[in-house]
Amino acid sequence: MKSRIVLLGAPGSGKGTQAEMITRHFAISVTSPGTILRRERDLETPLGLQADEIAKQGGLVPDDIIVKLIEDWLNLHGKEGFVFDGFPRTVTQAERLEEILQRNGGASLDIAIWLEVSEETVRDRIASRLQCRRCGFTTSLTSACFSERPVCPYCDGPLIRRNDDDVSVLQTRLAEYKSKTEPLASFYEERHALHRIDGNRDREVVFADISALIEERAR
Ligand code: AMP
Repeated sequence: MKSRIVLLGAPGSGKGTQAEMITRHFAISVTSPGTILRRERDLETPLGLQADEIAKQGGLVPDDIIVKLIEDWLNLHGKEGFVFDGFPRTVTQAERLEEILQRNGGASLDIAIWLEVSEETVRDRIASRLQCRRCGFTTSLTSACFSERPVCPYCDGPLIRRNDDDVSVLQTRLAEYKSKTEPLASFYEERHALHRIDGNRDREVVFADISALIEERAR
């Protein structure tokens, strides 16, 4: 399927989980700046280390850096559609994405999915989130099966807590989200691309709504 989709929502709203389900079910390429930056951090590149300092404090990485990552990825993998998990996060990034799509054949975004969650859901999920250090698979302390150590069911990598999933950092992340990301709702509303989905529910229920939306748009 050739859909062009962005997933938006607060930290812990389920963007990564839903992106993974969309890519498996619909075979649409997915990327996430957060995942790329964590990989860069693990490789100890200057970009990775700089981004890690910002993320640890709950801030957003400068727009120019993020847009360059996305543009490079699109040139390599985005010809047949895409799902972005955690991009755009600012109006500037959304405007730059439009320019890039214009330059590359003029196709516009198909769907901007906003996963709406309560602050209580965010706090609960962030407090119990575990992520595979190797492949990025995300699960929770309550649903992970442990033998002696928490390991990823897909690649056997170690499941760890993210260093920005800290209660004090979460306050800053939520403040950044409110001031910089929430204005994107009206940006995509004006373009008739915005779809709000209740993200407080189980992942399968949320995914059923998202699937119906993607299928309807593809008709
Ligand atoms: P995520 O994995 O999407 O929660 O992203 C982890 C961190 O990477 C964020 O808290 C930011 O510091 C950075 N990051 C990810 N995506 C973006 C973006 N679109 N704009 C700016 N910073 C980002």
